[in-house]
Amino acid sequence: MTQPVHVAVVGAGPGGYTAAFLAADLGMTVTLIDDAPDPGGVCLYRGCMPSKALLHVAKVLSEARAADSWGVTFGEPRIDVERLRTWKEDVVGKLTGGLGQLTRQRKIEYLQGRASLVDARTVSVVLADGTSQEVRFDHGILATGSRPARPAALAIEHDRILDSTGALDVRRVPSSLLVVGGGYIGLELGTVYAALGTEVTVVEMTPALLPGVDADLVRVLARRFGTVAKAVHLGTTVTRLVPDDGGVDVHLSGPKIEAERQRFDEVLVAVGRVPNSGIDGLDRTAAKVDAHGFVEVDAQRRTAEPSLFAIGDLAGEPMLAHKAFHEARVAVETIAGKNVAFEPLVVPAVVFTDPEIAWCGLTEAEAKAEGRQVSVGRFPWGASGRALTLDRTDGVTKLVVDPESESILGVGIAGSGAGELIAEGVVAIEMGATVSDLTQCIHPHPTLSETALEAAESFLGLSTHVYKPKRQ
Ligand code: NAD
Repeated sequence: MTQPVHVAVVGAGPGGYTAAFLAADLGMTVTLIDDAPDPGGVCLYRGCMPSKALLHVAKVLSEARAADSWGVTFGEPRIDVERLRTWKEDVVGKLTGGLGQLTRQRKIEYLQGRASLVDARTVSVVLADGTSQEVRFDHGILATGSRPARPAALAIEHDRILDSTGALDVRRVPSSLLVVGGGYIGLELGTVYAALGTEVTVVEMTPALLPGVDADLVRVLARRFGTVAKAVHLGTTVTRLVPDDGGVDVHLSGPKIEAERQRFDEVLVAVGRVPNSGIDGLDRTAAKVDAHGFVEVDAQRRTAEPSLFAIGDLAGEPMLAHKAFHEARVAVETIAGKNVAFEPLVVPAVVFTDPEIAWCGLTEAEAKAEGRQVSVGRFPWGASGRALTLDRTDGVTKLVVDPESESILGVGIAGSGAGELIAEGVVAIEMGATVSDLTQCIHPHPTLSETALEAAESFLGLSTHVYKPKRQ
């Protein structure tokens, strides 16, 4: 029998590779197992990174179109789908190749194959060449991620019905695209295809886009998205999809639907994701899976089986790569004997649409639903010099504040680059900052970061660039 490795990691996405790298850096022997030739997982191969590459192209296209009003005129863009795809694949290749190199430099054993659990301390891996290999371990970290959800009415295999993976492939630019689901993926990829010239229609089951996000933030996005999309149908569901060689017949049901049957060139289904907890052999261990399919874990990300940990999308909401990065550190440091726990005050969220929406901590709607007293400091980007120089005054920065202690409980930003700006909110909340603390921090001028400063000043009734007459 070979010696067990200290740590075997199943799944090499953001959670898995971070765990493997840290374990190796802390001196442990590590085996990392994944189907793909290099680490990266959904995020790098068919999620965050390719979508952000395409969203960058969408931004350039939209700025080139806007430039006319600044006195600069470009010709109509010509889109070479082949080269666009090659560029996006180059980005993915560089990132995943880089991770492969970092894996080798750290002397991590990388097994390309499919793992199943033999017992709580052994995995069997069917390798890419068809042979099998057993790996014994002291600790196992499960990081198998998630996959697109496909409810029965939408679960049709056809090359005109895409999930996020298919849409990110950009095989062609369809003349029309129905996006089912007005969440992260639907709106991000809807933005990409609209910029490429597709007529995009979105149907969202609930009464608003991005359910759960504060309405004043969503409104900023909805206003602009409404000008690039052909239609957005809220409170609407798709009851049937009937694809054929020339398109897809879609049956819609909703209060404001003019035609219950509409035809589209392609359909993108983006109605959520489900965890990949059907790991073969997991039932041979004491680990438990909850009613939503997530593997149950404690604050250290340990499952009910003491030798097994679960992190990332597999271990619960929110299904975001940066949550997985952090959980990976907690699990590995626990294995290394440190006294740590996964207990962030906030996990930021960013929707990379145009404009972006980002938030962290308590939303205003959540506070109201909990019956909590909160006050809001808000700064409209129309009063930001930097936003005006970018011709992007469509934005708002808001602070959700505890009125008694004046602590910042939540931050929400809608506007260009909101995803970069939200990090300040994360630091403020994690450090227990009050609005006055924020006003004491000199923000660089002229930048969009000043909108956070002025939201704090506006909470105190002292914003320089927004005049609020005092009540007599
Ligand atoms: P989502 O949960 O963000 O959105 C799905 C939307 O579909 C919801 O608004 C829901 O109400 C709607 N919906 C559900 N069933 C429907 C139906 N039958 N008809 C019409 N609408 C329906 O899910 P997603 O966009 O698929 O993304 C999945 C997850 O992936 C996200 O929750 C997020 O965790 C992650 N993700 C994150 C990012 C990012 O961080 N920028 C980007 C993409 C995905």
